Amino acid sequence: MADKMPEFDGKNLQAYQTDMLPVYAPELLRQAELAAGRAYAPYSHFSVGAALLLAGGEITLGCNIENASYGATVCAERVAIWSAVAKGLLSPDMPPLALAVTAQPCALCLQVMAEFAKPDFPIILPAEADFGSYENSYQVWRLSDLLPRVFRL
Ligand SMILES: [Zn+2]
Repeated sequence: MADKMPEFDGKNLQAYQTDMLPVYAPELLRQAELAAGRAYAPYSHFSVGAALLLAGGEITLGCNIENASYGATVCAERVAIWSAVAKGLLSPDMPPLALAVTAQPCALCLQVMAEFAKPDFPIILPAEADFGSYENSYQVWRLSDLLPRVFRL
């Protein structure tokens, strides 16, 4: 499994996100599935994994981590995003390149993505029919498709 993906040259984010999609999407989905295997989900038994591709080509992973209080549970996408921020790899000035996740993101995670990502940010999901084989079987949504009206202060 690749630890790094083709580096973004910092010039045309939209072109990278579109042109490199066939290169990074299957690998990100594989890593998201790996992360799903690490989920801590004793209450829902619904394991989710996420893989976030960052501007330098690094990938941070996340899985859902549940809690007996339920309210303290956190989704895979936010774990991956917060990990990237904590590593100094993600900020509004260094937007992420793409995210793969093994289940549809919730609105809370989409709002967190919108804090750092551009509206064209690709969110890659497994194709429903071919889960587990990702070369030509994934679906891509843009952040602005899933969250057309971002909350802003
Ligand atoms: Zn979520």
